[in-house]
Amino acid sequence: MSAQFNAMTTERLFRDDAYLRETSARVVDVDERGITLDRTIFYPQGGGQVGDTGVLVRTNGEPIVVVDTRKGDADAILHVRTDAALRPEIGETLKLAIDWERRYRLMRLHTALHVLSCVVVAPVTGGNIAPDKARLDFDIDMSLLDAQKIERETNALIARGIATETVWITDEELDARPELVKTMSVKPPRGAGRVRLLRIPGIDLQPCGGTHVANIGEIGAIRVLRIKNEGRRNRRVEIALAD
Ligand SMILES: [Zn+2]
Repeated sequence: MSAQFNAMTTERLFRDDAYLRETSARVVDVDERGITLDRTIFYPQGGGQVGDTGVLVRTNGEPIVVVDTRKGDADAILHVRTDAALRPEIGETLKLAIDWERRYRLMRLHTALHVLSCVVVAPVTGGNIAPDKARLDFDIDMSLLDAQKIERETNALIARGIATETVWITDEELDARPELVKTMSVKPPRGAGRVRLLRIPGIDLQPCGGTHVANIGEIGAIRVLRIKNEGRRNRRVEIALAD
């Protein structure tokens, strides 16, 4: 029973080091949905951030292109391929490489949303991070959203070049500090006994399981692409990297 459970748990290497571009891992399961490994550097779609893409290389040199990464059963992570005929052996060791350029843009945009959420002071009702743009939805009056002001203030905070930190707290500690949860639509994962937080000292502290840059200066600068009214509680601020 426990062996089976362990087999369906994928160690999330990106949690401790989001900068890992390559590693190796063992195949623990293969089905039509995807390939499950004992550990991975591929981030699975979640918390508004899209899943990673990249390649798995078999011992015989055959590449398996990964077009998406999703959460599977229990704590497994599925590496989604287009060609289900590509079936590595259970126990086989694969070389993993993520599409680093794409992922690094996601890390920069994702961290930029943390900064943005401190410039626009309102409950966050939604969000999404894609390689080319990212957005947050706020429960706020449209008249309070000024694109130029938001862009200027967000970039001023980014220019401080502050190192980010990962902090873990217990479920009980989080319950005692409900003000930490800004995102109303995405509740932090519970039940594991502890919750992961991203801290940008002096700027932001909130539960988040995503991948972030080590220093907000790496974001560079952002542009506000548009501000849209997507409903009474969804005033959408869309951003892109300036470069
Ligand atoms: Zn985050």
